[in-house]
Amino acid sequence: MYKKLRKSSFRIMSIAIIVATMAFIMLGLTGCNRNSDFITKQFFAMDTWMEIHLPAEYSEDELETYFKDIEALVRNLEGLCSVTSPASDLYKLNNSEEETTTAVNEELLKILSEAETLEDLTNGAFCDKLYIISKEWGFTTGDYKVPDSKFIEEGLKKIAEVVENNNVVIGEDYVTRPVEISFDLGGIAKGYATDLVVEYLKEQGIDSAIINLGGNVHVLGEKADGSAINVGITDPFDESVLGTIALSGKAVVTSGNYERYFELDGKRYHHIIDSKTGYPADNGLVSVTIIAEDASYADGLSTALFVMGLDEASEFWRQNSESFDAIFVSENKEIYYTSGIADIFECNKEYTKNMVTH
Ligand code: AMP
Ligand code: MG
Repeated sequence: MYKKLRKSSFRIMSIAIIVATMAFIMLGLTGCNRNSDFITKQFFAMDTWMEIHLPAEYSEDELETYFKDIEALVRNLEGLCSVTSPASDLYKLNNSEEETTTAVNEELLKILSEAETLEDLTNGAFCDKLYIISKEWGFTTGDYKVPDSKFIEEGLKKIAEVVENNNVVIGEDYVTRPVEISFDLGGIAKGYATDLVVEYLKEQGIDSAIINLGGNVHVLGEKADGSAINVGITDPFDESVLGTIALSGKAVVTSGNYERYFELDGKRYHHIIDSKTGYPADNGLVSVTIIAEDASYADGLSTALFVMGLDEASEFWRQNSESFDAIFVSENKEIYYTSGIADIFECNKEYTKNMVTH
């Protein structure tokens, strides 16, 4: 008997936004809230809740247009990257019987290229080719099971061969891959969508906003009074607020073992797969939060560093500390945060706190 749990489908969780003046007044627009600084709109897409906070200074008509455009933009990306919807571009690519698939959507090619770059950078901890294995675990279909160990072993062998021989080519308008290889962009797609929303807002001349796409947060600019915006980091043990980080113009993304999992015989199997073993990463970490300029980079790294484990992830940060900071939470309630955020990360929980330094 196993218990099925797909929590992230039902509510916004990974990161709780805490805006200082949170006295909501309902506004005429459906799903919108008005407070003194921001208007909030929520919608469900990419299998999770999305939440957009825009400055209250805009008119209802302007806001309605912005919210509509943003939702359309996110839904368009969902239509590209879904591994389960037969209409999606990625589904068609994954199920193509041709080694070379032509006329692949330009945006999808960009996301795949970014995923491949992250795979190289993280030495395979981030792996966009795990779908043959993760599909079998049932995290995308809801048909949860522990796959046969032989199946996992063979899947890993196939992926290793493809990586070793550079058998995946992302071309100008085509993708070449051995037909048995399927891509899963779930570790980066929401971050990528967040970056697109930020780009759109900047194009509209909006310089202050908070975008939370299922825990992929970008804080654009600051509050009306010029102060930084506090973003709450989720406590992986009870999903309360672990602490806050004061940000302006940055993305913050969390990967956690509590976001999607099932339980079998008292053991929890979560959705972040260790690309070396084919099983859920099991190295003592329960969540990894990344703070960086771009949400897609932060999204990819949160998944990858979760797979690496604390020691390797700390070393990775030392090698790349100019591009991100991180907060790691371990299963024995220890928090490790990198020195770059020492002044802006606040945590009042009784957990052991350690600073990761160079
Ligand atoms: P995140 O919540 O951003 O950590 O992403 C988790 C999602 O990324 C999973 O639901 C899978 O779709 C995908 N995924 C799981 N393991 C990996 C991995 N090792 N590398 C890249 N993507 C992964
Ligand atoms: Mg990720």
